[in-house]
Amino acid sequence: VTAEAALVEAIRLLGPKAKSNHPIGPLTTYRVGGRAGAFLEVETEADLEQVRIAVAGTGLPVLVIGRGSNLLVSDSGFPGIALSLGASYGFIEFEGLVVRAGAACSLPVLARRSVAAGLKGMEWGVGVPGSVGGAVRMNAGGHGSETSQVLRRCRLVDLSSDEDSTLTVDELDYSYRHSNISPTQVVLWAELSLSPGDSREGEAAIGEVVRWRREHQPGGQNAGSVFTNPPGDSAGRLVEEAGLKGYRLGTAWVSDKHANFIQADPGGSADDVLSLVDEVRRLVYERLGVELVPEVRVAGRFEQTEPMARGGAEL
Ligand SMILES: Cc1cc2nc3c(=O)[nH]c(=O)nc-3n(C[C@H](O)[C@H](O)[C@H](O)COP(=O)(O)OP(=O)(O)OC[C@H]3O[C@@H](n4cnc5c(N)ncnc54)[C@H](O)[C@@H]3O)c2cc1C
Repeated sequence: VTAEAALVEAIRLLGPKAKSNHPIGPLTTYRVGGRAGAFLEVETEADLEQVRIAVAGTGLPVLVIGRGSNLLVSDSGFPGIALSLGASYGFIEFEGLVVRAGAACSLPVLARRSVAAGLKGMEWGVGVPGSVGGAVRMNAGGHGSETSQVLRRCRLVDLSSDEDSTLTVDELDYSYRHSNISPTQVVLWAELSLSPGDSREGEAAIGEVVRWRREHQPGGQNAGSVFTNPPGDSAGRLVEEAGLKGYRLGTAWVSDKHANFIQADPGGSADDVLSLVDEVRRLVYERLGVELVPEVRVAGRFEQTEPMARGGAEL
């Protein structure tokens, strides 16, 4: 079976809502990169079941896209089935100190709504432009907190098997920007346990996070921190010490505001971004002897035969 035939079969199995050759680069904050062979916006459990059937029937790889704020899609696209969760997975429900949020819910919205509900513990999320699902997978965090500190349990559906489970935080093997959630598992919702708070204090904390971000981080097309911080150090500090602030490779460049951010030019190339990730990693190792580990996930095939950047990226 050729890859093309597998994609035709995938579109058939996914049903009438599926899109073939759908642009997914624009679904990422880098806004570069190509198309997915097949794409489905999942609104119901039945849609998700269609994806599971299509994966089983074709053996094609699958890509779950959240808000695309930690994702680089190759210029040649993703030769498999991509999905994102639609608005029906964007809910937020409060019950006492527990919040249940759909995986498509945006973290900044969750942060603001939690504060408005008089709850404390999610304020940091206002600065992370991802979804609840992406945060659960990546153990997103900032300002001294991270997802694993507030998560109680989440529902996970595995698209490569029949598995459908609700796991507690202890079962997700959390560490810094890491969980054991695999590329074929989809987070559908998460339950967080917050503390009682004062809305005014919460609003002030949110204002402070927003102010800090504006002062220290660039806007434009990027995916936040490119590398994880090595123990006891900061990746941005190391890239800066290696003299790489402002360093450009084709359409990609190291931000001169924050050296752990790599920016893409409008209409730029994902291959340039990944080549620059590799180049920065190589030069930091050469100049400072520290091996940086990429935080950003990559999807699809890149020009580089064996990009170093893949060392830390699982997709
Ligand atoms: C300006 C900026 C600032 C940032 N600051 C921070 C920060 O302070 N701290 C931090 O931790 N991150 C930060 N990030 C990175 C990013 O926002 C987080 O990693 C976020 O958790 C990614 O969520 P997402 O929905 O955008 O995921 P995506 O980028 O869409 O995907 C990331 C990974 O999660 C998987 N995924 C997404 N949704 C699901 C789901 N429902 N189920 C299973 N897997 C899923 C994807 O397959 C992929 O492997 C920043 C990014 C930007 C652009």
